[in-house]
Amino acid sequence: MGQEDSKGALTRPPHRFKRLEGLADFRARLHPGAMAARQSVEHGLALLHDGSLPGYCVGCGTLRRFRYSADPQGGLPNWREQLDCDHCQLFNRVRFCLAFLLQEIRHEAPQVYITEQVTFAYAWLKARWPETIGSEYVGESTPVERLTGYMRHLTGDPQAELRHEDLTALTLADASQDAVLSFDVLEHIPDADAALRELFRVLRPGGLLVFTVPFLVDAERSLLRARIGARGIEHLVEPEYHGDPAMDEGCLAFHSFGWDLLERLRAVGFEDEGLLDGWSAATGNLGLMGALTARRPR
Ligand SMILES: [Zn+2]
Repeated sequence: MGQEDSKGALTRPPHRFKRLEGLADFRARLHPGAMAARQSVEHGLALLHDGSLPGYCVGCGTLRRFRYSADPQGGLPNWREQLDCDHCQLFNRVRFCLAFLLQEIRHEAPQVYITEQVTFAYAWLKARWPETIGSEYVGESTPVERLTGYMRHLTGDPQAELRHEDLTALTLADASQDAVLSFDVLEHIPDADAALRELFRVLRPGGLLVFTVPFLVDAERSLLRARIGARGIEHLVEPEYHGDPAMDEGCLAFHSFGWDLLERLRAVGFEDEGLLDGWSAATGNLGLMGALTARRPR
């Protein structure tokens, strides 16, 4: 099927994005009946395809298969972190954000900053747009040699060096980026608003922010999970650690964001902010991805 389909209508990604502007908007669009219908389809797909389902991959620009493993408890697979393409390896929420970026970006060769460097997403962007900048937070315990080796393998560039950036104090110039991408990083930054201000600063007027965070779709307010106090990290709720290739012990989440994140984006100066909905089996974008967008005003 690939040959014919890759030259046909599917050469244009069948993504349809809706920008949800708040909890009421979310509840109107994804009311319990709509959610149940989606989940019913997702259960069916999980059973039918047994580990990989076909769909259009924006990373490859053609039909591919997206891999997932079944939920051991019999629930839905963890779609958000899976559905990686069997060719380009890009997974669900990253493919989704890249599709939105490709739709929104008008330049031939945009200047893009991505807050990661040792990933397939960075390698994909770097191959497409060589001026792409990626970075990692390089701390005292960061295994720099191992990460550099893996990044060189991913990018095919034996000279590439790991770049350190602190998202609350970027070394990038003001108004230097057409787009900034960030995947599940902001929840790990104690002063997330300082990071948002920096991302705003480095974007050009009209520049696009696309990012993911674990998002509490039913919560008006974000949950502050931990903070930095006089004696170091203070946990306000049960600590939650997320897997991180750069940290063996995992990375502490300081925030579980809710809808007030949109107000916080506005407070920094962004506009056109919203949670992106674009659930689609055709593109292997299932579940709730927690993808958000905002734009620096022109
Ligand atoms: Zn792919």
